[in-house]
Amino acid sequence: MPEPHITRLYLFISLFFCSYVIHALPEQALVPGGIALLQLPDYEQGTEVYFKNKRIAVFPYDKSWVAMAGIGLSTKPGDYEFSIRRTDGLTLNTKITVEYKKYDEQHLTIKNKRKVNPNKNDSERIATESIRKKKAKKRYSETIPDVDFIWPVTGRISSIFGLRRFFNEQERRPHSGLDIAAAKGTPIKATASGTVIDAGNFFFSGNMVYLDHGQGIVSLYAHMSKIRVKPGDVVKQGDIIGEVGQTGRVTGPHLHFAVIANQTLIDPAFMLPRDGNTEEVDKRMKKD
Ligand SMILES: [Zn+2]
Repeated sequence: MPEPHITRLYLFISLFFCSYVIHALPEQALVPGGIALLQLPDYEQGTEVYFKNKRIAVFPYDKSWVAMAGIGLSTKPGDYEFSIRRTDGLTLNTKITVEYKKYDEQHLTIKNKRKVNPNKNDSERIATESIRKKKAKKRYSETIPDVDFIWPVTGRISSIFGLRRFFNEQERRPHSGLDIAAAKGTPIKATASGTVIDAGNFFFSGNMVYLDHGQGIVSLYAHMSKIRVKPGDVVKQGDIIGEVGQTGRVTGPHLHFAVIANQTLIDPAFMLPRDGNTEEVDKRMKKD
């Protein structure tokens, strides 16, 4: 006789896709840079869920449990599997299909040419910082994450996630976060409760803070004028962690907000409530 929970595991994803009405869950988007959600009706403490060999976050939602995987921007369209490693030693696999998504180009002019073509000293600094960034990105703590994010700053979205970027007509990495334009000094809120992993000045990102929200969910805030926290600090959702600025490689004051899940940068827009940024809602209404 087949085990009943195996079949039940398969009634998943589409449920979330249709029923996204409240903001408690991130929005599912099976595209590069998006999020895949998996319902785990028979979840038991100790069960571990993996996506592309990386352990992913599992949290309670609506009397059940949900696993959340970040889908990297470089993910090719096609089939991928969640692996559910149960406490009894059994591993169950369940498939999702990642679709193609077109990302546009963005061309920016940076006055400080060193921020586009760093000199030898800069390159050494960048290499050291890259190790620090990787370490923060890999953070995995057992805390159950609060994925009900709030907007860290509200304002005009000046650049979206995933754009193919050209600085002074030279191609660089795609845009890894969401840019929210705001005046210098605007307070930046912690998107969810967490612990400060790292905080400091970086060559490209300027003054930056990383927050660990638990189980591989990390948020980062870049180009700040002021940092108001230090590594190890525990913050609550909405606590002020810094101020908007224009430090690092920028064209003007804004917050670069990025979200990492299972060591993968994802589009923060899928984590944020749709009605949490008045200016954006106003803009959408004008368009309609
Ligand atoms: Zn940015």
